[in-house]
Amino acid sequence: MSDMAISSQKVKTLKPHNCWGCTVLFPPKSTMERVNCVDGDKIYSVYWCEFCQKVLAKMGSFNASDGFAFGELQETQEFVDLQNTQSKEGVL
Ligand SMILES: [Zn+2]
Repeated sequence: MSDMAISSQKVKTLKPHNCWGCTVLFPPKSTMERVNCVDGDKIYSVYWCEFCQKVLAKMGSFNASDGFAFGELQETQEFVDLQNTQSKEGVL
């Protein structure tokens, strides 16, 4: 099985969505990145919050996004590092 991200788009959500990276449930009207993926003959969308997008950007490629299982991003060193950085700056 190989999932592939085929397109992505910044959207303002209409419904609540869990971020694929950190599993946090974001309410409607959140700005998130919607990534359309294809898995065999199925097309589905996953949503990424702005924080997780920054983590992915730090890893060098947003295409990394289709390589993660749900919630797996928060297990990465980059996620923890960025979280620590932001809490020091008082952003979170
Ligand atoms: Zn997230």
